[in-house]
Amino acid sequence: MAWRSSGATNRDLIENLWRNDLIKSPSVKAAFLKVDRAHYAPSAAYEDSPQPIGHSATISAPHMHATAVENLLPYLTPSEARPAPRVLDVGSGSGYLTHIMAELVGDKGTVVGIEHITPLRELGEENMGKSEEGRKFLASKRARFRVGDGRKGWVEPGEEGQGWDAIHVGASAARVHEEMLEQLKSPGRIFIPVDDDEGGWSQHVWCVDKDEEGKVSKRKLFGVRYVPLTDAPK
Ligand code: SAH
Repeated sequence: MAWRSSGATNRDLIENLWRNDLIKSPSVKAAFLKVDRAHYAPSAAYEDSPQPIGHSATISAPHMHATAVENLLPYLTPSEARPAPRVLDVGSGSGYLTHIMAELVGDKGTVVGIEHITPLRELGEENMGKSEEGRKFLASKRARFRVGDGRKGWVEPGEEGQGWDAIHVGASAARVHEEMLEQLKSPGRIFIPVDDDEGGWSQHVWCVDKDEEGKVSKRKLFGVRYVPLTDAPK
């Protein structure tokens, strides 16, 4: 199915994702149209498939990015109840999704991309710096790239206790890590691929919600093949 959304240009790719019902919301479509995937994918930028970005990492396929954003959308956009959305992108890799989500959080919002490989943290920032809007997001600190073990979530220095409205996890986790749950706001949502078993070869994406009272519920969405969340290479 994935290949059916490939296009010759960025616009083609996004229109195809829309036509195939992978992008469903006009605000998501607008955000994807604003970001040129060629700034993030070193090859075959408008193909609906993952591509290697070095350090054994890949930029995920566009239909996966679209699905993740559609699932997190209610927690990404500013509203009366949530004027300044705070979003964590674990395993930010190329930085593409960090940029898309920065488009959605609005002027007061924050998206932090976290990577455990320093050159990939730099790659994300460098890629975002290729567009004027990306440079603006970096300068205003609406988008930030940090180095750390994303399995522990992330606490921004000086912003302790603020937590996250949405957490996107871009690599497969052994479990829903406790720190992520602790840092998730009430209400808040985590989009996370989790290993079905210890070998980690079969995985499902889970949508983890924390409601206003702090009660956590989980929904299993669909099967996937992500690279795992690991210890940082020595
Ligand atoms: N969202 C990225 C996906 C990159 S692949 C994109 O589409 O470009 C998964 C990423 O998770 C890799 O970049 C890898 O370095 C990172 N990663 C793996 N384990 C990690 C950990 N423990 N903490 C933070 N990042 C991790």
